Parts: sequence; C-alpha cells; structure tokens
Amino acid sequence: MRFLRKYAFWLLLSCLGAGLVGAPSAQTARTRLADGFDQPVGKPDAEGYYTSRRFRPGYHMGEDWNGDSGGNTDLGKPVYSTANGLVVLARDMRMGWGNLVIIRHTFLEDKQMKTVDSVYAHLDKITVRENQQIVRGQQVGTIGTAHGLYPAHLHFEIRKNIYIGYNQRGFGKDYSNYFSPGAFIAPRRKLSGTGRSALVAVNTFNLEGQGAPPGEDPTQRALNKFTAPPASPLQAPAKKTGVFRVNRFDDL
Ligand SMILES: [Zn+2]
Repeated sequence: MRFLRKYAFWLLLSCLGAGLVGAPSAQTARTRLADGFDQPVGKPDAEGYYTSRRFRPGYHMGEDWNGDSGGNTDLGKPVYSTANGLVVLARDMRMGWGNLVIIRHTFLEDKQMKTVDSVYAHLDKITVRENQQIVRGQQVGTIGTAHGLYPAHLHFEIRKNIYIGYNQRGFGKDYSNYFSPGAFIAPRRKLSGTGRSALVAVNTFNLEGQGAPPGEDPTQRALNKFTAPPASPLQAPAKKTGVFRVNRFDDL
C-alpha cells in the first residue's frame, strides 16, 4: 500500500511536469501569421506619398514617408500596420521618437517561421494599445511631428532584430539588425499562411533604456533572432522609470 502511494505520487509529479513543459511560456503570445506586407501610408501601395529619406545603413535605419502635397499637408493622415501582428509597444517615448508604435509580425517563408518588428515613429496620435492584435491595413495612428521636432512625416522601419525596442544603442546600424523597408516589402506582398496563427516571443526589450533585457548580449541575439526564436525564457521587463536616453535629437 505504501509502495502504491509512493508510485501514485511520482505519477502525479510526472504528469504535472509534462503539463508545465507543454504550456506556452508567459514570454510568448499567439498572433495571426502575416499573409503579406503593405506600405504603411496610402494603403496598400503608398499612393499619394513619397520617401523623402531612404534607408541608409549607419545613418538612417528606416524610410521617411511624406505626402505628395508637401509641407505639413500630411499631418494627421492615417498610418496603417504593414501586416497582421501584435502591438508590442505603443506609447510616447518623447525625445527623438515622439509617439511610437512597434508591431511584431511572424510569417512563413522557405518553410521557416520568421519574425520581424515594424516601427512607426513621430506619430501625432496612437490609435492602438500594447498587446492588441492587429490586421494588415489596420490604422495604428496618424502622421505627426514628434511634438514639433520635425516637419510632419512617418519614420518607418522593418527590423530583423526584435530585441532593439526603442533604444538602438548597442545594436549595429546595419543589415544584421534591419531591413531596408522597401526592399523587404516588395517581394512579400502576398505570403502563405492565411488564417493561421503562431506563438511569438514577447517582452524582448525593456523600457528602462537598456535596449535589451539585462544580461542579454544584443550582438549575440542579433545573430540568432531572425530565424531562431530564443530558447530560454527572458527576464521580465523592468519597471518603467521615466528615464529616457536617446542618442540624438535629429531624425532617427
Ligand atoms: Zn526617419
């Protein structure tokens, strides 16, 4: 009898263990696969808009979109999510960013799951919230000036590295961490995977100005993240402290 009780105990323990291993981590969230990527303004093809500054490694890690009519005529015009995804940041980061939205996208390509972040900066208004599920073409905000810092335009990035967040310090400003947005979108207007969903890593950056979870090596992460999600759970993001460090005030 004593033996049986002992056996039952171990059986129960192994069941619990299996349950824990099989359960999704709190550091992941389910999101709908991207079934294609569109331009973030004048949807879906940026009709009525032009890029005033292009992607340039080392200098400008995204594209600046302006309305064809020039000046601030595009102020308050809608900005759309490039693809289905999950909002991982939607808040006023002030300094060089202004109102900032980051959306995480996962998609199937060459039979592999891949993940990228899209970045929408200097917004006049944010119309989404963090952890919200987004579909391609859904409005995320409006074109703004980063609180009067620049003439109105959208700064738009596509990042390979989902550990950057709002602080780019410590991450190489090159193709190991970023895509040229136009070059990324053009061959990915339509992707397979419609209606399917997948788990993506969340909490991959904190909001304390570190740009990566404490103890993480951003360079090493940068080498792995595009095709391989992190194997171990990341630390929970640190509490927001109100300390913002941005390298410079010119356009990011
Ligand atoms: Zn820019």
